[in-house]
Amino acid sequence: MPELTDSQVTVVGGGAVGAAAAYFLAREGYRDLQIIEAGNTSSETTSQAAGLVGQSRTTLDRTRLTIASAAFYRNLEKDLGYTADWRETGSIRLALSDASVAELQQIAAVAAQADLHVELIDGRRVQELCPMLEDVSAVRLALWCPTDGYVQPNSLTDAYLQAARDLGARVIPHTRVVGVDVRDGVVTGLQTDHGNIATDMVVNAAGPWAGALARLAGVEMPIVPVLHEYFVTEPQDGWDSGSPTLRIPEIQVYARGEGSGVLCGGFEHNGTSIDPATVAIDSVLPATLNWEVLGAFAEDFARFVPTFGDAGIRTVFRGWPGFTPDGRFVVGPVAGLRGFVMAAGCNAHGVSGSAGLAQHLLESLTGDVSPYVRSLSPNRFLPRTWSWSEARLQAQAICENYYPMPAQPV
Ligand SMILES: Cc1cc2nc3c(=O)[nH]c(=O)nc-3n(C[C@H](O)[C@H](O)[C@H](O)COP(=O)(O)OP(=O)(O)OC[C@H]3O[C@@H](n4cnc5c(N)ncnc54)[C@H](O)[C@@H]3O)c2cc1C
Repeated sequence: MPELTDSQVTVVGGGAVGAAAAYFLAREGYRDLQIIEAGNTSSETTSQAAGLVGQSRTTLDRTRLTIASAAFYRNLEKDLGYTADWRETGSIRLALSDASVAELQQIAAVAAQADLHVELIDGRRVQELCPMLEDVSAVRLALWCPTDGYVQPNSLTDAYLQAARDLGARVIPHTRVVGVDVRDGVVTGLQTDHGNIATDMVVNAAGPWAGALARLAGVEMPIVPVLHEYFVTEPQDGWDSGSPTLRIPEIQVYARGEGSGVLCGGFEHNGTSIDPATVAIDSVLPATLNWEVLGAFAEDFARFVPTFGDAGIRTVFRGWPGFTPDGRFVVGPVAGLRGFVMAAGCNAHGVSGSAGLAQHLLESLTGDVSPYVRSLSPNRFLPRTWSWSEARLQAQAICENYYPMPAQPV
């Protein structure tokens, strides 16, 4: 196993985002690069993700980002020789109200601008594509995107890491960063529980702990861990891993086939977040599962599949994806702290958006940064004019109102 050493670039965090950042940086020519991970790679938030990759969004920039990410996953095995277990199942987004119909029409218009093929379809066509939905009487309109799908988050992360290793990157698991050395506004090294190293650039890809890591460098970043969870049922008639992925904004629920069971999750209206000012760099999951919330997802989804209410639950997945007060990624160098670069604040898009986010990271390190990538800069939160209590409420609200996403760049 490689040893912790001095390095030009050190990525902190071995989840999907850190792994993607490492691969894209190595591909760009940053070869003296190591990834430091407190536990095992992809053992935290990434391991819990559903892996849904939805390309159609309300804004053009975000749609282009996910189109590029999906293309990368589709071709990953051919291009890099490793698999992300990409499944191109297509996706269906249901509209049950006038507001949602208008939103779908807007999304379809954005998709047309981005050259993404989508179709607005009726309930009958929904049932043809997804016969397991027995009752579609409430469906006013739906958006079908045949090239959407999902990845297996751990496979994707392993693929990035293998590809980064092939380019010379070193992966150092079971090593925790406990301090950041800064001299005259420049990052000079990291302190870890296995010794200290010199490094010229730190990429903060610490997921929900990115705010805590930034604080070690003397910077406050409003990355708020918000609880998110889903369950996988016992086998259900008609479902398999090729079933289209489903999103139903009105009930804040998503679903897809997982084996012959159904993976079903959602975004509850009364979310649970952790005070980012006090989050410990440890696993912080609540001891008990929240059956009230999970049961409500099942009950709501049973409007479309009446037998679903009786489905046995096989497993529950949960974690604390990092949300930001404006629902946008936090990507790029931190002003006034040379060598400290953020790659965090994924707002529950960190798996699907990892390839795009890593490309934005590269762009942020060049002299030629587009207005969109500039809008993701951590410097929008500096100098700090916000309060932790407000930032926490706003970030939690982004999660609670995940569907529909606000009509602004994310
Ligand atoms: C239930 C659930 C479902 C989800 N579904 C989806 C989905 O369908 N699609 C999607 O795109 N996203 C989804 N997400 C969100 C997605 O999981 C996250 O956005 C993504 O995993 C974030 O990746 P990451 O690498 O930033 O974070 P993580 O995977 O948490 O990785 C961060 C790593 O940093 C390490 N670390 C932290 N501090 C330190 C330190 N001081 N020193 C060393 N290492 C450190 C941690 O150990 C951790 O491994 C879901 C999340 C959950 C919880």
